[in-house]
Amino acid sequence: MKALITGITGQDGAYLASHLLNLGYGVYGLMPRRSTPTTWRLEYLGILDRVKLIEGDLADPTACVGAVMESMPDEIYNLGAQSFVATSWKQPLLTAQATGLGAMNMLEAIRRIKPDTKFYQASTSEMFGGMKERPLQDEETPFHPRSPYGVAKLFAHWATINYRESFNIFGCCGILFNHESPLRGIEFVTRKVSDAVARIKLGKQKDLHLGNIDAKRDWGFAGDYVKAMHLMLQQEKPDCYVVATGVTTTVRDMCRIAFGHVGLNYEDYVVIDPEFYRPAEVEVLLGNPAKARRVLGWKAETSLEDLMSMMVDADLRRVSEGRL
Ligand code: NDP
Ligand code: GDP
Repeated sequence: MKALITGITGQDGAYLASHLLNLGYGVYGLMPRRSTPTTWRLEYLGILDRVKLIEGDLADPTACVGAVMESMPDEIYNLGAQSFVATSWKQPLLTAQATGLGAMNMLEAIRRIKPDTKFYQASTSEMFGGMKERPLQDEETPFHPRSPYGVAKLFAHWATINYRESFNIFGCCGILFNHESPLRGIEFVTRKVSDAVARIKLGKQKDLHLGNIDAKRDWGFAGDYVKAMHLMLQQEKPDCYVVATGVTTTVRDMCRIAFGHVGLNYEDYVVIDPEFYRPAEVEVLLGNPAKARRVLGWKAETSLEDLMSMMVDADLRRVSEGRL
């Protein structure tokens, strides 16, 4: 089996590549050109020399066509995106092109070159956004995105369903709730916190500036979540699934757990800074993973306590070794 992963240099791309290699897949990855190296996550997992990287940007339809022609994959996992919500207000059109249109570029490449390719779209709980009155979100919950990122993801989500209905493409959407790991980008709140905890503990930082710490998220471990992506493409019929833990926690309590892991009290270090407030906030995300459990046999294996311990320990090692 051959898989093409867009966004292979990101958090999920690296964990998914590792998972698929362990299952015996040949793994290709689409990688946009950057001025500095971006393959550190693949190196961290020890798999850089086991994947075939194809240069190309999702916003460039010819690159998508080229990647499909070169890899002729059985499965495509479309994980490539401008994925940071806060940035999507600063670069909305870039977000629309990479995160939204990019999915359609890939779907078009499949339709024209290899229509039997199975397609996974990385949809997100950010598509639910402002649905406060339905606190437990599942596959039937109406969407109300609250950021240009959420809007772009909703386009990609419906494009995948539309290509399934229009052209019989085997397209699945995983509506994944927040998932984190030591490989999470440093701008996301869990990793920002684990990095700060390590630096504060080692005397390299004094405090931690955060925005809305009353927001609630359903946080899981990325290593668990990529397994659900693969399982979706092994089913008889394409479908959409919520992937979540079913537990929601405030940013405040996540801080309490992370600082507590090294014997510190978060209240002594966290400073509320309006710079990190967003133009529109998603206050509560809480997913119902019952369908993924029932149909895929998948469940989240890692608690938030274990996840934050894993992340803080990894950052303590990284900071004390002077790695970036
Ligand atoms: P990351 O931000 O870690 O990875 C995104 C990847 O996409 C990177 O490899 C990035 O490359 C690449 N990329 C960005 N722009 C382009 C482009 N124009 N063309 C090709 N590749 C591009 O995200 P995650 O791994 O955390 O998430 C994977 C996917 O799942 C994303 O689509 C994300 O939006 C979605 N998702 C993530 C959730 C989470 O909690 N992690 C929750 C729900 C959905 P580079 O680094 O060089 O820019
Ligand atoms: P998101 O759910 O994809 O936006 O993931 P993030 O990790 O970026 O943000 C999760 C929640 O943490 C959001 O409600 C943010 O508003 C909140 N938050 C509070 N302070 C910060 C901060 O300093 N950085 C980030 N990234 N998020 C913060």
